[in-house]
Amino acid sequence: MHIDTITSPELAWQQEALCAQTGADFFFPEPGSSVREAKRICGMCPIRAACLEYAMDNDERFGVWGGLSEKERLELRRTSR
Ligand code: SF4
Repeated sequence: MHIDTITSPELAWQQEALCAQTGADFFFPEPGSSVREAKRICGMCPIRAACLEYAMDNDERFGVWGGLSEKERLELRRTSR
């Protein structure tokens, strides 16, 4: 196998990320601004569950991941303990 064809299996799901096609700006909004558009795109994303799991596992604090804002993920973390 040629080295270029090797991709990390952990990050392979990101190749299907809808946000990779729309640009990151939606997903890292200014504090206090709307995350509605980012969430709408997440809602159509084929890898939403994997994305959310990744964000939770890696304790991602900023931006929208898997359709949840940072506040919502914090809440999920609190309630899932
Ligand atoms: S769920 Fe949302 S943040 Fe995650 S990869 Fe898909 S579009 Fe991007």
